[in-house]
Amino acid sequence: MQTVVHARSQVAEGVLAIGPEPVRLTWQVTGAEPGATQLAYEIQVGREPGFADVRSTGEVEGDAQIGVEAPGGPLASREVRWLRVRIRTEAGWSGWSGAVRVEAGLQAPSDWIAEAVTLPDDPGSREQAASPVVRRAFTVTGSVRSARLYVTSLGVHDVVLNGTRVGEDILAPGWTTYRHRLITETHDVTDLLVPGENAIAATLGDGWYRGRLGWDAIAGNDRRRYGDELGFIAQLEITLADGSRQVIATDGSWHASTAEVRRADLYDGAFLDLRLAQPAAGTAAFKTDGWVPVRVVPFDRSVLEPRIAPPVRVIAELPTVRTARPDGSVGLDGGQNIAGWVRLRVRGTSGQTVTVRHAEWLEPDGALHTRALRSAKATDTYVLADDAETVLEPRFTFHGFRYAEVTTDAAVLDATFIAISSATPPRSTLAVDHPMLQRFHENVVWSQRDNFVSVPTDCPQRDERLGWTGDAQAFAPTGSTLFDSEAFWTSWLRDLELDQDDVRGVPAVVPDMIIDGPARYGRAGWADAATIVPWAVHESYGDVTVLRRQLSSIRRWIASYEGRLEADGLLGEAMQFGDWLDPDAPVDRPWEAKTDSTYLANVFLVRSARLAAAIARRCGEDPWAAHCDAFADGVQDRTWARWGAHAITTQTGCATALRFGLVPAAERPAVEDALARLVREADGHAATGFLGTSLVLPALSAAGRFDEAYRMLLRTDVPSWLYQVKMGATTVWERWDSIRPDGSIHPGTMTTPPEMTDSEEADPHMLSFNHYSYGACIDWVYRNLAGIAPDAERPGYRHVIVAPRPVAGIDHASASVETPFGHASVAWQLDGDRFTLDVQLPFGTTATLRPPVTDASTVTVDGVVTGAEVVVGPGAHTVTVVRPAVAAGR
Ligand code: BGC
Repeated sequence: MQTVVHARSQVAEGVLAIGPEPVRLTWQVTGAEPGATQLAYEIQVGREPGFADVRSTGEVEGDAQIGVEAPGGPLASREVRWLRVRIRTEAGWSGWSGAVRVEAGLQAPSDWIAEAVTLPDDPGSREQAASPVVRRAFTVTGSVRSARLYVTSLGVHDVVLNGTRVGEDILAPGWTTYRHRLITETHDVTDLLVPGENAIAATLGDGWYRGRLGWDAIAGNDRRRYGDELGFIAQLEITLADGSRQVIATDGSWHASTAEVRRADLYDGAFLDLRLAQPAAGTAAFKTDGWVPVRVVPFDRSVLEPRIAPPVRVIAELPTVRTARPDGSVGLDGGQNIAGWVRLRVRGTSGQTVTVRHAEWLEPDGALHTRALRSAKATDTYVLADDAETVLEPRFTFHGFRYAEVTTDAAVLDATFIAISSATPPRSTLAVDHPMLQRFHENVVWSQRDNFVSVPTDCPQRDERLGWTGDAQAFAPTGSTLFDSEAFWTSWLRDLELDQDDVRGVPAVVPDMIIDGPARYGRAGWADAATIVPWAVHESYGDVTVLRRQLSSIRRWIASYEGRLEADGLLGEAMQFGDWLDPDAPVDRPWEAKTDSTYLANVFLVRSARLAAAIARRCGEDPWAAHCDAFADGVQDRTWARWGAHAITTQTGCATALRFGLVPAAERPAVEDALARLVREADGHAATGFLGTSLVLPALSAAGRFDEAYRMLLRTDVPSWLYQVKMGATTVWERWDSIRPDGSIHPGTMTTPPEMTDSEEADPHMLSFNHYSYGACIDWVYRNLAGIAPDAERPGYRHVIVAPRPVAGIDHASASVETPFGHASVAWQLDGDRFTLDVQLPFGTTATLRPPVTDASTVTVDGVVTGAEVVVGPGAHTVTVVRPAVAAGR
């Protein structure tokens, strides 16, 4: 056997260049002798892959394997470094890992000479209008050794170089808090250039920058939230074979026009007139007759920052089933609710139109249910240029849909649904012999894909699609388990910090797009994403960097809390979303939940203060940690004294109190009993909204109440998780009863009171079939049903908790997670009174095995009879339990 080390840097998949931060290496080890551990490591950093001239850490003792900072500090702009690592185990030194190449983008605003350019007198600054196209031809004066395109835009862009689209990113540069942060990207375009004549062209779309954003459609003031003018910003840097450099940057010498994209809006869809296409604009031979010199738009270079999060990409292409509709249109069903668009292959004649409408659900008569889209038109329209077979895809838009309807006189030859998402790699698998639960898991996976579009959004279909912080905090542990979303969250948390207000706290949506009014900042359970998300990311991935980065945001959030306490040392009454969408709240007033929202405000304060203390300790800030704990102690006692009696009357009240440590030790058994009783009285039906739902199962299992937990998880009538599956859901619904038991569609009625918002909602209706929030229970399924969980004390699965809890009616379950250390998996089977569990652990980890036992059980681990809890190291282990504990589940 040979010990092999596989290293990677923190740069996310799909991202070429690192930002101005030190390189951190994480490595996995295979082939080590059984029982071997890492005693020391050495990292080398060189300027070339031969490692002739290296800096080294020297031998560093210890078992660090995650996010280990390499020597050399942040990279300078354009710098390339090569890194490798080796480790020493009891068997001696391993060989060197494969070399990891790291390249820097443009790190400082002063590296940018590019100006922002666009179409002069762009009518898009007043209303939806044709997309500006900008271009330039240039001469490359020799053969090309390497070339990089550094690029961003006000608005979104596609770039073509010599007729070839650059990269696969969609809606680049994505959505960030543009006033503070505009993402720059680096593309390797070496192979796209030729000596001699070349051309570059870019098309701009409104995107989040200038397109519709939010539901404030009245008087058209939901456009232009960030600016009136778009702008393409690009710097093409070419190194020639002789070492000389050539730079082509956007400036006043470029030319502008418009082409086939006549309108494109994220909510409303795109209108493409293919007769106006100028496909050759991105080629050198093109003549710019009729084009005009660009307008140079002022912009703030200080907000430019290299990309952290993975870009948005196409992640799946789904075949469709076609139905003929009575009105002559073509109905399409992709079988899956997605975020994306329809790709059509058609044949017609010049001037013929093709219209594609989208919806998540069908009306009883088979028509599209578009009411849920509110004011989003979600319609793509094309005008054909000729009678050739044509492939149609929209630009600069996406829709949330499972069904589409195509109206045209042209022949629709075929249709494919294209799903997009931020390209976070899948990280886990789950297989359980319960088809409905398995389907619910797939639904959560899809809701994550569909809602991780540049930022974590509430939903992908209606005139909203915003980064609601409450939804994100509830879902962060599940989202971190399902996909490798560390870089995605890290990027969004930076926006959270930048949009945070010292006094009023963290916004309800990040990026904050200014819904003025009392709901904007500091709402309980929403703003607490500031502490909850970093902690979830740290627990799942094990790197302390996310905590260090967020520490100042967290300090400011705690200070905001301190500034808002009233004379009695508690937060007072205020507008809160509360346990939003509690199934017992009035349908049109989802904030009127059973659990007192002022209680919840104080509970979440305690939660944030406790997490702030834990985070501060991990960052070596012990005095401030003690301060946060003292702050939490006081509010905790006062909250329990004031609301304890109320809290034990609701599932959310009990679950928050138990999970957030509010209950004095002596009272815990009583509160656990109260929660279990409430669940039994509800016969396992959900009775919680956005704040309580992710906490009830963990509270029950921490109290050992698996009968009640499974009774909830496996219920199939409304309100419950699997009810949605029974009713045909393919993603997670916003409301427990988005479809009612009689098959009718929820009316979605809303009465938004003036105290919630200063903006006038065009259409206060709320019904989505794709909100991940309630899907947050899936992390519990990994941890408890399959039995694989990280341990916040030794995060990133360095220590794995393997505690499967089988339930009657499910005979086997398995799960795996690609941990930073490598592949970890569990698989169990229940055969009569014999329970068998197989566990696989990567090098560098340990696990505590807690098999499901009663006093009557006999346990063996790897053939040896043991007690109820055993710690094991890397490798494969088999556990058997004769007469295991099995939850009732009903
Ligand atoms: C969003 C939710 C969000 C809520 C806040 C809704 O419009 O879709 O997901 O958390 O508002 O109350």
